Amino acid sequence: MPNASDRPVFRFAPSPNGDLHLGHALSAILNDEMARTAGGRFLVRIEDIDGSRARPEFEARILEDLDWLELDFERPVRRQSEHLDDYRAALDRLEAMGLVYPSFVTRAEMKAMVAEAEERGQTWLRDPDGAPLVPRLLMSEEEAATRIAAGEPHALRLDMDEALTRIPAQARSFAELDEGGNPHEKPCHPADWGDVVLARKDAPASYHLAVVVDDAAQGVTHVVRGLDLKRSTEVHRVLQDLLGLPAPRYHHHRLILGPDGRKLSKSEASTSLRALREGGATPADIRRTIGVD
Ligand code: GLU
Repeated sequence: MPNASDRPVFRFAPSPNGDLHLGHALSAILNDEMARTAGGRFLVRIEDIDGSRARPEFEARILEDLDWLELDFERPVRRQSEHLDDYRAALDRLEAMGLVYPSFVTRAEMKAMVAEAEERGQTWLRDPDGAPLVPRLLMSEEEAATRIAAGEPHALRLDMDEALTRIPAQARSFAELDEGGNPHEKPCHPADWGDVVLARKDAPASYHLAVVVDDAAQGVTHVVRGLDLKRSTEVHRVLQDLLGLPAPRYHHHRLILGPDGRKLSKSEASTSLRALREGGATPADIRRTIGVD
């Protein structure tokens, strides 16, 4: 067995805003299996910075489901809400580099801008998740400072174009492991994401910022998660390079789809592990259903 510090580190990082479903089971089981095979560690991280959606009771239910699946993760688990200072420090660093600006654009204003452009027959650029890119509106530093001082809600965004001038060429790709564990360099096009949010109006850090800070803080060497997050990795590589953090290796696994062909959602109770368990399913049944028995 290698030294603790040399051992690969895997993590499963659920958000406690609902019960785990079959897709989460696949992620958690793959992390557990890959960690075992590699003689590595398996960590669980609770991504609970979204105060409007995260609930402690869901955290307890998630841990109970993972125990029921007989997954061997280390305790205590890391909770993002206990590490807000770490995200603030990363944000301060990016701010000191001149890469962060406040954005006051509201959802309603965005909707109106997109609708107006589309009425004129223009196509509004969208990010890889399909969300319209939010433009940087011209504003003097004084105006921004006055609006912030007046308490106007705002997000903090990364100046992506400027950020891309500061990082070396290797941040434009990441190592993706295939099913056999062989690495392939995947090219990145982070500019497609536009000026991503780093801190939200209602949360002190965005998913992108927190995940990058946490993976480094926890010494994560392997990020195993669903294919729906594969393009987010392009943003994560940029942030890792700007912040001088090591880049883990990635494996983005297939998604479990519902009968309607869409990816599963926490809001549909029928495929939650809890509902399946209450209906008499065993952990072996779950593994069989998702093709990992
Ligand atoms: N918290 C994210 C989710 O539940 C996963 C983040 C990650 O694995 O990077 O979708």
